[in-house]
Amino acid sequence: MKNIIKKRVLVTGGAGFLGSFLCERLLADGCDVICMDNFFTGRKANIAHLMDNPYFELMRHDVTFPFYVEVDEIYNLACPASPVHYQFDPVQTTKTSVHGAINVLGLAKRVKAKVLQASTSEVYGDPSVHPQPESYWGNVNPIGIRSCYDEGKRCAETLFFDYWRQHQVRIKVVRIFNTYGPRMHPHDGRVVSNFIMQALRGEDITIYGDGKQTRSFCYCSDLIEGWIRLMATGDDVTGPINIGNPGEFTMIELAENVIELTNSKSQLIFEPLPADDPKQRKPDITLAKEKLGWEPTVPLREGLAKTIEYFDGLLKERNA
Ligand code: NAD
Ligand code: UDP
Ligand code: UDP
Repeated sequence: MKNIIKKRVLVTGGAGFLGSFLCERLLADGCDVICMDNFFTGRKANIAHLMDNPYFELMRHDVTFPFYVEVDEIYNLACPASPVHYQFDPVQTTKTSVHGAINVLGLAKRVKAKVLQASTSEVYGDPSVHPQPESYWGNVNPIGIRSCYDEGKRCAETLFFDYWRQHQVRIKVVRIFNTYGPRMHPHDGRVVSNFIMQALRGEDITIYGDGKQTRSFCYCSDLIEGWIRLMATGDDVTGPINIGNPGEFTMIELAENVIELTNSKSQLIFEPLPADDPKQRKPDITLAKEKLGWEPTVPLREGLAKTIEYFDGLLKERNA
């Protein structure tokens, strides 16, 4: 008889933008998936198409409170990712990263599961080393308006490495650089969703600061592939490991691409730069290439076109 025992995987934050794609991918790979989410920024619409799958289970729960499930692998994604959302209730943001990490690590320790932490390029802060390798310790303001996210994620990394050293928990830490794609929240305030929504509505495109700051944008499917490969590595590969697309663009270049791809008549307007906004960001992905054989495959314009199609569909649905 064929072995029909499936791998059981917990995804915290599974109803969010990236979590929903991860749940989809894990189901396609033959896993039994538990999606846990408190729906702070996640949406049922993101996972509605998975609800009929007998191997998909939804759990409404806040990761800051303990929970008991029996699983083989855990992806810890629960945490708002957009500055507008994580600054809405900063104390809760820190609790989510720190108490959330303690709970998933306690769970992983008890059931001997592998556990992956969705960390971030924000641990590098406003970097003085460019591009950023994993060995760079970062330049982070501990008391600013972004600190709840940056320092919360840094503390989560500390907890992951202490549970690994102290309790031999099987950890994987991935530092994610700006990732975009369909299912981003249309009002989450991140630059890609803002620019596309503004361009599609013919509204002014809001450039913060002089627009010369840079970011590197990774398409969601590339990122998920990197996570899956990292989870599949042996216990000696803990990370931290950067996953991102090294293509680097200024915000003005991004706006110009969006305007061109949407055939929009939108104009650029300049607004004040938020505090502590990093001036440049680009991943050094040498380690991901070496350890995972991974590199991104979707160029910015191709990914933007797919994302524009998604937001265009959303707007048409609303106007129908
Ligand atoms: P998202 O906001 O769409 O998803 C986060 C999910 O976590 C949402 O479904 C939200 O409801 C859930 N959540 C928040 N607080 C929770 C709590 N206390 N308990 C349970 N669930 C909770 O964001 P995303 O872009 O999908 O990001 C997913 C993860 O990847 C986050 O941890 C984020 O920090 C990390 N990340 C994302 C990016 C990016 O560019 N998208 C970059 C770096 C890191
Ligand atoms: N925890 C959990 N689920 C589990 C096991 C632990 O949520 O299956 C939580 C537990 O409530 C604790 C945290 O994880 O607060 C850390 O667990 P650990 O065993 O490291 O610490 P302790 O229980 O000794 O405080
Ligand atoms: N940004 C912008 N206009 C917007 C939203 C964001 O110019 O409408 C800028 C923002 O100041 C930052 C960059 O775009 O320099 C990326 O912002 P986002 O919030 O997407 O991500 P993060 O700053 O966390 O990398």
